[in-house]
Amino acid sequence: MNEPVDLKINTSYCVPQCTDIISHIAGYIEESSNSEDFVLAVIDLKEYSGFDDFLAKAISSKRRNEYRKAISSGLYVRSLSVQERNDRRDELYAINTSATERQGEMSEEYFQYPPEVTESACRYHYHKTYGVFTPDNVWIGYIYLRFCGEFAATFRILGHAAYFGKGNFMLFLMLKMIEDLYLNQPEIRYLNYHLMYVGKPGLQEWKKNAGFKPVRFIAKS
Ligand SMILES: [Zn+2]
Repeated sequence: MNEPVDLKINTSYCVPQCTDIISHIAGYIEESSNSEDFVLAVIDLKEYSGFDDFLAKAISSKRRNEYRKAISSGLYVRSLSVQERNDRRDELYAINTSATERQGEMSEEYFQYPPEVTESACRYHYHKTYGVFTPDNVWIGYIYLRFCGEFAATFRILGHAAYFGKGNFMLFLMLKMIEDLYLNQPEIRYLNYHLMYVGKPGLQEWKKNAGFKPVRFIAKS
């Protein structure tokens, strides 16, 4: 990608914590511009005219069917407020510890009780938790998304192992989150899910199925 990424947009809302978020993402983008092996998995949301266009062009018919099946089965996705996330940390912990092995790397952090998170006052640098729920409101998977200017990166993404094989609920979660970005967060241009070519083959395939493409950036100076 030759176009620089705007990680700030507007700094008049910034609080001291924004510095950490900006430097983390800037470092990530910079490494992708410096190292040929550091290829990010990215969806350029502006490549499509909207969510329906994205679904039609970036997602295979097989995966679109899984998406529709998830909707008709009564699964649903929504974001959680900071308060709700903090109140439901037992469930978060249950998801985190539902398997000892995953397709990606499992850092130690997942096995510690989740710490409380706090609300950010900045509208351009913050985190948001998206959850996928069964029809009877069991929380079975989440994405913790880090927002930074026109860039958003999955910071944590995990499903409850007991529900694997019962519909592709993590793909459903990812697609519904993307729909939310189109509808409610128009400043977001790039969605990043770590690197394209790391993790087990199943995880790399999963990213492709969800519309992610290999991208290297040039950081904005
Ligand atoms: Zn900020």
